[in-house]
Amino acid sequence: MSEKISSRLQSGNSSFERLFFCPGCKNAHGFRSKEWPMPKGLSKEAIKLFQNKWSWNGDIEKPTLTPSIHIVKKIGLDKNNNPIYQTICHSFVRQGMIHFLNDCKHDLKGKTVELPNF
Ligand SMILES: [Zn+2]
Repeated sequence: MSEKISSRLQSGNSSFERLFFCPGCKNAHGFRSKEWPMPKGLSKEAIKLFQNKWSWNGDIEKPTLTPSIHIVKKIGLDKNNNPIYQTICHSFVRQGMIHFLNDCKHDLKGKTVELPNF
């Protein structure tokens, strides 16, 4: 489904335009640039999520994304039935480097590493 477009990025699926490999989560994370049209048939929750679009410098080897990539997990509902999210991974991708923030739940929190080959 996804296709390699550089040593560091793959093309995404219907929701994400591009994917990179996160060495903290040992999983792919996706992003959408502002120019990419919203996919059809998304749930209300997904549309809310995908309204977050990033500015991407277009560089497929050393991408810079603004704002941060914030990966959350739904951990339950509050008393008003609103979803409660917990941060899993939070980073800035700048010039091919991932700057992990201190609220990450993995071992690379607070560290800066090169985007790995993917
Ligand atoms: Zn991650």
